[in-house]
Amino acid sequence: MKAHSDIKRIMFSARQIQERVKQVADEITQDYKGKRPLIAGVLKGAWIFVADLLRQVELDVDVDFICVASYGGGRTYTSGEVTLLKDLTLDCKGRDVILVEDIVDSGITLSRIKEMLLERKANSVRIAALLSKPSRRKVNVEINYLGFEVPDEFVVGYGMDFDEKFRTLQDICVLKKEAYSS
Ligand code: 5GP
Repeated sequence: MKAHSDIKRIMFSARQIQERVKQVADEITQDYKGKRPLIAGVLKGAWIFVADLLRQVELDVDVDFICVASYGGGRTYTSGEVTLLKDLTLDCKGRDVILVEDIVDSGITLSRIKEMLLERKANSVRIAALLSKPSRRKVNVEINYLGFEVPDEFVVGYGMDFDEKFRTLQDICVLKKEAYSS
């Protein structure tokens, strides 16, 4: 791991992540046999998860990205407002969509995006999330494929940031409170 004084501890090592991502990919491969799902990665946090997951999924897929903001500017909790910064470029009408997200916290972001894709007449929308913090949930959202359940600690690395930092750490790490509460 790249040494960093703001990191409290490693929650999941790169190796643990790869093992779990392979298991999640195998579930998706089984469930979508004979289909060509549209994978909709949620930027920016899910970019590394999407890349690793899809290289393990043994299916033909279409890949697209959607970018939303709900945290912004150095916060560690959602504002409750989900702003669409970049829409999908592919049409999701009639498609089996798998939304791929880094972490489900309040659940507000994913429930909004899912609702939007169903309004656009996607045939089905399932959710693959690397992490879930069930203790922080405000709205109920079904996670169909989950990497790990985690406690209420702010994590960075493996694509996830705090104020645009730490995304390129290979492990998933807990950030020291002092790093974001000052
Ligand atoms: P929700 O709408 O579920 O509250 O928020 C989901 C989004 O919040 C995630 O996509 C992620 O960007 C951000 N988020 C929630 N918890 C964490 C965390 O512990 N670390 C990081 N880096 N982002 C988080």
